[in-house]
Amino acid sequence: MKPDLFQAPDYYNLDELLTDEHKLVRDAAREWVKRDVSPIIEDYAQRAEFPNQIIKGLADIGAFGPYIPEEYGGAGLDQISYGLIMQEIERGDSGVRSTASVQSSLVMYPIWKYGNEAQRKKYLPKLASGEWMGSFGLTEPDHGSNPGGMTTNYKDMGDHYLLNGAKMWISNSPFCQIAVVWAKNEEGRIHGLIVERGMEGFSTPETHNKWSLRASATGELIFDNVKVPKENLLPNKSGLGAPLGCLDSARFGIAWGAIGAAMDCYDTALRYSKERIQFGKPIGQFQLQQKKLAEMITEITKAQLLAWRLGVLRENGKATSAQISMAKRNNVEMALKIAREARQMLGGMGISGEYSIMRHMMNLESVVTYEGTHDIHLLITGLDVTGLNAFK
Ligand SMILES: Cc1cc2nc3c(=O)[nH]c(=O)nc-3n(C[C@H](O)[C@H](O)[C@H](O)COP(=O)(O)OP(=O)(O)OC[C@H]3O[C@@H](n4cnc5c(N)ncnc54)[C@H](O)[C@@H]3O)c2cc1C
Repeated sequence: MKPDLFQAPDYYNLDELLTDEHKLVRDAAREWVKRDVSPIIEDYAQRAEFPNQIIKGLADIGAFGPYIPEEYGGAGLDQISYGLIMQEIERGDSGVRSTASVQSSLVMYPIWKYGNEAQRKKYLPKLASGEWMGSFGLTEPDHGSNPGGMTTNYKDMGDHYLLNGAKMWISNSPFCQIAVVWAKNEEGRIHGLIVERGMEGFSTPETHNKWSLRASATGELIFDNVKVPKENLLPNKSGLGAPLGCLDSARFGIAWGAIGAAMDCYDTALRYSKERIQFGKPIGQFQLQQKKLAEMITEITKAQLLAWRLGVLRENGKATSAQISMAKRNNVEMALKIAREARQMLGGMGISGEYSIMRHMMNLESVVTYEGTHDIHLLITGLDVTGLNAFK
């Protein structure tokens, strides 16, 4: 792969909106991605393998629980810092960002928000340091966009719960030590349970043959009469709103992360357009190529503003789920379109692993689908503005 010469676009001087701490956190993540991710990631994606050796680096840059308080091992940062870290990691690879998102927003967040003090103390420091990795089981073979229809369930057996069912498309599942699993009790109410590797009847087969997020491990979570200790139930929130609260946090991170992938595609195409000579001049001198680049930087700038404003709202506890949906949907589509345009700008080289663009493009096909599909987020905005529910 080509050396990582990335230079971040900042067309509207958005750095002026950031604090010194934001810039410090972002620059540390950027440097780490250049040093430890860019040189190896193409190879791991080609081999469809997660690079385990980067787990410690992810922990060191604060990617595991950026906003979780320091007393539980988190970095104690604000929401914009969290967003900037996700942006930088996804600039390297959406699969690596997915690993960090799941650990932070889908595993640490519910333990922090819905767990009790003993659960926080037991799990959060180990997850923050990367000693333990977690996964989040919501999607089932027959229930994706409609998780409320889930059939995974548990029964109260007096001294323990008995868990049965299956989850699929689960990031980090093949190597996770724990899984936060959403299941219905005998009354049909959804609760979160912490399932630990080694519990009898719990298995995590890997999903192979993905053309997307190849450097992220995906698999199933299978529960065959798993005895879950009662102290592993998350006591402080139940119902579908509990997993949806986690998804708000993860979708917020994706809205920022997608900007990273878009910036990398734009920066690569811009550099290439100045170096590649056809018809005796750099291709960047042709109006058709300039149109592509001008539209890319316009869309990136709009997405940056959306993410920044959302960060301010979320930091102040004011961001609505619908606002988060809008940003996730807009920014991922923006990134996907830029990846496709940038790929064309590199001609034949655009499909080569010498450059990051095709990998970003394929990764973003998962990002536009997971954590609520493009259609579902549109319907959430539709519901919000009309008050009329298209899901019913
Ligand atoms: C690589 C990868 C990693 C993932 N990681 C995780 C994870 O860690 N944990 C987890 O729980 N899940 C995870 N997922 C699952 C992901 O969240 C689901 O794939 C997603 O929610 C969509 O569900 P589905 O695939 O069953 O599609 P479906 O729900 O079957 O949707 C199929 C199509 O129908 C459309 N559709 C559905 N309902 C409606 C409607 N009411 N109106 C209009 N159109 C509709 C959808 O937009 C989509 O285009 C992951 C998925 C992938 C691909």
